[in-house]
Amino acid sequence: MSATVTTAALEGSRIAVLGYGSQGRSHALNLRDSGLDVVVGLRAGGPTAAKATADGFAVASPEEAVREADLVAVLTPDMVQPALYRDVIGPNLKAGAALLFAHGFNVHFKTIVPRTDIDVILVAPKGPGHLVRTEYEIGRGVPCLYAVYQDVSGKAADKAKAYAAGLGGARALLIETDFKEETETDLFGEQAVLCGGASELVIKGFETLVEAGYRPEIAYYEVLHELKLIVDLLYQGGITKMLTYISETAQYGDYVSGPRIVDAATKERMKAVLKDIQDGTFARNWTAEYAAGLPNYQRFKQADLDHPIEKVGAELRKKMTWLNEA
Ligand code: NAD
Ligand code: MG
Repeated sequence: MSATVTTAALEGSRIAVLGYGSQGRSHALNLRDSGLDVVVGLRAGGPTAAKATADGFAVASPEEAVREADLVAVLTPDMVQPALYRDVIGPNLKAGAALLFAHGFNVHFKTIVPRTDIDVILVAPKGPGHLVRTEYEIGRGVPCLYAVYQDVSGKAADKAKAYAAGLGGARALLIETDFKEETETDLFGEQAVLCGGASELVIKGFETLVEAGYRPEIAYYEVLHELKLIVDLLYQGGITKMLTYISETAQYGDYVSGPRIVDAATKERMKAVLKDIQDGTFARNWTAEYAAGLPNYQRFKQADLDHPIEKVGAELRKKMTWLNEA
């Protein structure tokens, strides 16, 4: 039972958090509030060192933080982790210490090959960093996946569970997985459904209405703003709750039109996306794109930012002042 998992396996251990962005800051704050000993390892003069200091953390150079640590949490962007491991972590980490990731990408795709005398573990909160913090603050937590890749201390799983408990994850749910499953399903989810699939569905729906002569303001509400209401129902009670709360007319439309939009051919393309993830094609392409200075990434991002839905959306969101509270 996850309710019985505590931070005990990490009491008296020094935890070094490398990176102070979305996950890093929330992990550092939650672990400290859970009574654990946290130091933040950041580049001097880097963009987030001032923030970590203002939050009351001891900030050390990444090298120093790693040298003193019993557990190192690698919370920098995935694409900078291989060089960080090669230059900073690999040469400085104590034998028997634990190396922890929040996403299995580099270990699974072997862009990091960890030393064999350390524990290698994963704790992946199933939510963005700000939620990891805000849920913790109100006495709850974000469900966490945890996994062990390498166990030299005999306590790797206990360390992973204790870290997840420190994040508040044990108040929600801890689920054991492995690096392959976490990495491949996480990439598939964000590409096919959560980020890629959902945003393309919204954009294509918006374009369809606007091209048919409807006003962009109305289209924005119908295909983007109201998505939150549906997602909240799905989050709380699945498809069952959504069907309970929408009208009979909306249900009938869902049954007859949903499968015309997302059909068997869509599922075949989902399988192709999954295959590219599984066979390493996506990881190779992303690594090459990053090494080339992100030329396509910047172009794709700009196209999203320049889309008409973002112009009308910015105007409407300015008028909905409550959206930016909290
Ligand atoms: P982020 O981009 O928000 O933050 C990265 C941090 O690393 C920043 O503090 C940045 O200053 C620092 N950094 C950047 N380059 C660096 C370098 N060369 N050396 C040292 N520090 C450097 O990252 P994130 O989204 O929190 O992702 C961190 C990890 O968490 C990744 O492995 C990611 O896959 C995983 N993760 C993220 C989320 C999420 O919702 N963002 C969810 C689950 C898991
Ligand atoms: Mg994810």
